[in-house]
Amino acid sequence: MGKNNTSEDSKAKGRTKHPRSFTPVVRDLTRRKDIEEKLRELEERYRTMVDHAYDWIWMVDKDGKFIYVNKTAERESGYTFKEGKGKSFAPIIVPEDLPYVQEIFARTLKGESITYDVRIYNITGNILTLEVNTAPIRQKGEIVSTVSFGRDVTKRKQTEERYTNQLRSFIDVGNKMRMELGLETLLQNICGTVVNTLGWRQVILSLRDYNTGTSRPVAMAGYDKETTKKILSKPPVPLEAVERHLRDEFKISRSYYINHTHWEIMKDYPAGIVVVPRADSLPGGWHEKDVLLIPIYGREKILGFISPDNPVNGKRPTENDIRLFEIFADQAGVAIESSRLYAKLRTSEEKYRAVCENSLTAIYIFQDRKLRFVNRQFEKISGYSRDELLGMEFWKLVHPEDREMVKERELERREKGEERRERGEDIVSSYEFRGIRKNGKAIWFGAMASTIKYQGRRAVLGNLIDITERKMAKLELERYIGKLEELNEAKSRFVSTFSHDIRTPLTTISGYISLLLSKKWGDLTQEQEDRMRKIFESARYINNLIDKVLDLSRIESGKTPITLQKVNPAEIIEKSIEDFAPIAKEKEQSIKFTGDRSVNTAYADPKAMQRILNNLLDNAVKYTARDGKIEVSLIEKEEFIQINVKDNGQGIPKEELDNIFREFYTLPNRSGEVTRSTGLGLSIVKRLIDTMGGTVWVESEGVDRGSTFSFTLNRGVL
Ligand code: ADP
Repeated sequence: MGKNNTSEDSKAKGRTKHPRSFTPVVRDLTRRKDIEEKLRELEERYRTMVDHAYDWIWMVDKDGKFIYVNKTAERESGYTFKEGKGKSFAPIIVPEDLPYVQEIFARTLKGESITYDVRIYNITGNILTLEVNTAPIRQKGEIVSTVSFGRDVTKRKQTEERYTNQLRSFIDVGNKMRMELGLETLLQNICGTVVNTLGWRQVILSLRDYNTGTSRPVAMAGYDKETTKKILSKPPVPLEAVERHLRDEFKISRSYYINHTHWEIMKDYPAGIVVVPRADSLPGGWHEKDVLLIPIYGREKILGFISPDNPVNGKRPTENDIRLFEIFADQAGVAIESSRLYAKLRTSEEKYRAVCENSLTAIYIFQDRKLRFVNRQFEKISGYSRDELLGMEFWKLVHPEDREMVKERELERREKGEERRERGEDIVSSYEFRGIRKNGKAIWFGAMASTIKYQGRRAVLGNLIDITERKMAKLELERYIGKLEELNEAKSRFVSTFSHDIRTPLTTISGYISLLLSKKWGDLTQEQEDRMRKIFESARYINNLIDKVLDLSRIESGKTPITLQKVNPAEIIEKSIEDFAPIAKEKEQSIKFTGDRSVNTAYADPKAMQRILNNLLDNAVKYTARDGKIEVSLIEKEEFIQINVKDNGQGIPKEELDNIFREFYTLPNRSGEVTRSTGLGLSIVKRLIDTMGGTVWVESEGVDRGSTFSFTLNRGVL
């Protein structure tokens, strides 16, 4: 009220109502004067109280125009009532707040008493936040104006806002701390946030390396270039040196606040605490030698420390400030760990991608029947570009005729897959199918596929190689072999009919010549007899030849069954030697078994083995001169037995050794043998041994130095 006081004001100050309630009662002038005096005193007292109240107090009329403003309000806002009197309150309200203030005003005019916050401009244009209570003033029961009690809460509001802002900035700090930024940028962003949002002018971030047991400053903000360079190039220090300072007495929440009085222990602090003297250092505030260490926690251990310095408000951080900072440091910890993991993953991902991309195998993944991944070779092999391939139905690439087959394989793998996967086995199926290239051409694929998890769901990982050429060659070969088989069969058929056809007349010829030679039909001259014997010899040769040709063709066509069984090789050898003893005796040759008789098992067809030995012994006798020596030996090896038929006969020239197993291959007989060689005996021997899974070979030191034929037979069933 004060000097601007008016009667209207007094009336409006209806809360007291004193002036009006007393006026009609008092008649006596003197008394009235007394009373007026008293009233004035009273009013004065109230006015002073109201004017200098702790709160701002003001009144506005029904139109929102000022009718009273107390001194506190004048002083703190800078406005004077004299200038504001009769003017609307609207202009000093911050525009955004005006609508609801007007709404509140309307409600108070209807009788409500309301408490609210409002922002106003002070005389210098700064914004102040007031906490206000507004109530109606009634006159004769009717509301004529409102009175407001306000309090400047700007400072409190600011603190509150700072925390809210910090909290809010933590939320979008996530963006600044994205793991794919790379560790270095991330650390820099963390320091940047400390400086820009958390209210510190400087910060050093140091990280620990548990492998080497050291700690090192890795990022900082707020320092000049030179200092930054100097600190970041400091060598790592042992962790023990850091731990030493982390005493419990310094602990606030999870952090350490080391007061400057303990500064001597920090002198050798690893991050190299840098002291930047500040002129405005406040007594009781943050001291330039104070140290605050906020731990950055990883999942298991402390990753490092954030060490802020030089608070903007010059004050020591409160426990609340520290706790807030710790929330931030926790976020930073998660980001640092993620970033490290991400970097690791990326390196290994890059490695795999490179391998995959450059692989000469076409690699693909399909899921829900569609291609989800293809490598470069897949593009090359299919003729489609990656863009065309991704999302394409896998079946589109499979030749229509092979689709069923491929599907079956897929299904099979899937079914077997489940149970096998449970056993921890990997299911890989491999098969060949025809694909269709973009240009419509067919291509043969060799495929290998396995079931995998891709982006959390089941998918098929496949490898394809282009086997078109191989497949074509194989098909060509198969066709060729088919033809050869046909030809061979024709040949065998021919040989056998032909042989049988010759044999019948040959038997007749031989029969008649035998009769003639027996002289039952009359005597023969010596010349006639000699000629007859030659014819007979030739007939025998042809017969022999036909026998062998038929033998060979029967073995070749599989008509001579070979059944492997357990045999006693020594027994069979002795039997053969027995058979040949008389012929050898005729030539005065010795023939004996010198082998290991205890070897009593081999897997062979006894008949075939007998024929082999007969052929070899027959040759040995034939190609060895009188008095010769023939020796059969038997050796046991680990997996097979070896039989050698050795003679000291005419031998075989070195250059012929490779040839003599060929069909119809003969060498001149120099041991006086008359019977002509057919050149088929050794072919039969080789065939039989091949069929039984053995090998045959011959050794000879050369002409007249004898020969040794050797062959092997298995000791066990193959
Ligand atoms: P045949 O069945 O007519 O004896 P082979 O195929 O058994 O014909 O033999 C082919 C050729 O190998 C013979 O003509 C002979 O020159 C040579 N030969 C075979 N066995 C011996 C041997 N023990 N000593 C010297 N030469 C041999």
